[in-house]
Amino acid sequence: MSPTKTVAADIRTRNIMAAFRLLFPAARISRSELGRQLGLSRMAANEVTREMLDEHIIREIGEDTRTGRGKRSQVLAIDTAHWRVLSVDLSEPYVLKGAVVDLCGRIVDRTEIPSDDPERADFEDVTALSRQLMDMAGDAPVLGLGLAVPGIVDADGNVIHAVHLGWHDLPARQRLEDALQVPVLVGNATDAALLAERHFGEGSDNSMLIRIGAGVGASLCVNGEIVEGQHYMAGEIGHVVVDPNGPDCACGKRGCVEAYLSTTNLYAQIAADPAARIEILTGAGQMLGRIMAVSLGLLDLGDVALDAPADIAGEAFLNGMRGELSSAMTSHTSHHIPRLHRCQVGSDASLRGQAIAVIHRLVPTIRTRTADGTATH
Ligand SMILES: [Zn+2]
Repeated sequence: MSPTKTVAADIRTRNIMAAFRLLFPAARISRSELGRQLGLSRMAANEVTREMLDEHIIREIGEDTRTGRGKRSQVLAIDTAHWRVLSVDLSEPYVLKGAVVDLCGRIVDRTEIPSDDPERADFEDVTALSRQLMDMAGDAPVLGLGLAVPGIVDADGNVIHAVHLGWHDLPARQRLEDALQVPVLVGNATDAALLAERHFGEGSDNSMLIRIGAGVGASLCVNGEIVEGQHYMAGEIGHVVVDPNGPDCACGKRGCVEAYLSTTNLYAQIAADPAARIEILTGAGQMLGRIMAVSLGLLDLGDVALDAPADIAGEAFLNGMRGELSSAMTSHTSHHIPRLHRCQVGSDASLRGQAIAVIHRLVPTIRTRTADGTATH
């Protein structure tokens, strides 16, 4: 392609991405309003939306009925009937979860494979589940597959380290693409949950999601972008030492965040002294507030979502954490602390979030794929 053509193609791809982001997940915007918001001429807006209609990315849902002068413009929304995205989440112990998702990020079908070992996952099971999802999508064209992994994943989709799956240096993206012949995007499960919370829950453009389970980890979104970090380890706070004289941790060190705040540890504390449940959870919330206060002060976030079982992250925990953040972060010059809330998307957060990552990454490539004839079906 000539340089001029490449530039034109880049601009078209960027416009498609920008239009898609305005419509995602469920906005209804007239063609003329969309053009205005994107700063495009009438002709350019027509060209972009025509292309998106041809590729079944968006659909027309009727004329703009608001009164106004001139020709009425068509109202546009994302087309949920054509493309399908597949998603697999490995972050829940004892189960591999899979879903078929539409372009709005809604689950249209789902399946799962039970697993007896919470500390291991067979890659063959992941491939089998993915094949099942391909079958479930039927004749619908598959945009791509997302795999959410509880561990460290590089930009090329290699799983560097996933302790709870027993995986190290596994080229997951390559192996799944070879097996399925569709584009695959492998990502961190907590990052995926944060993405779902932003689009379907209460997450803002500057937010953090803290997941408390068998491990403790966080994900960070700054100015609308997920922060991966230099070594794809941003948010990996589980084995940061809080107190070198603290309790032993499974990693061999003492006093790690996880040694205090994992669900395993909190449930054990509560089982040992059920009457002190509220006190234990308030104390755990206060501790997390103390641990996070400096980072949150540094970042000036809009909100923090807690992704934890309901019997852990209840009012006691949230109030404990809120109180601690409030006294640590507010002063006579500032009283802004991030809004603290439970993750609203629920147990499908990573499953849906990884599908959203696939959608946002691959929608702009639809045109080149169909032109090359490389799209499936
Ligand atoms: Zn540790």
